[in-house]
Amino acid sequence: MAIKYFCPFCKAELPEDLEICPFCKTDLRDNVSYDDKIILSLDHPILDVRMLSIKLVGEKCIKKALPKLSDLANKSSDPLELIAIYKSLKQIGSSEANKIIEKIRQKNNKIVNNYIDEITS
Ligand SMILES: [Zn+2]
Repeated sequence: MAIKYFCPFCKAELPEDLEICPFCKTDLRDNVSYDDKIILSLDHPILDVRMLSIKLVGEKCIKKALPKLSDLANKSSDPLELIAIYKSLKQIGSSEANKIIEKIRQKNNKIVNNYIDEITS
């Protein structure tokens, strides 16, 4: 999968890792790491962008994204988003990640829990 870049400030998708965002003109050189950019994108208003960020957090095993993933899991009622969060938490696999998985289960979303039961059985 191609790596995508997002402006951490206005959340616009950037064609490459630019130094200055062409949309909001913010200077992006100021030490915002790629991991931090991904974490910032977890707040993106567009679900597709959030889904991509959620996936990347899991693939890159970004543990410091866990508090944000936890917030997202609390707020979301979208089964696809919750499943994506679950998958990333599984990839991270820490005890903190497992606690968030437990919280997702307790939301009692049927689709999500069936999915989790199916792949853990
Ligand atoms: Zn911007």
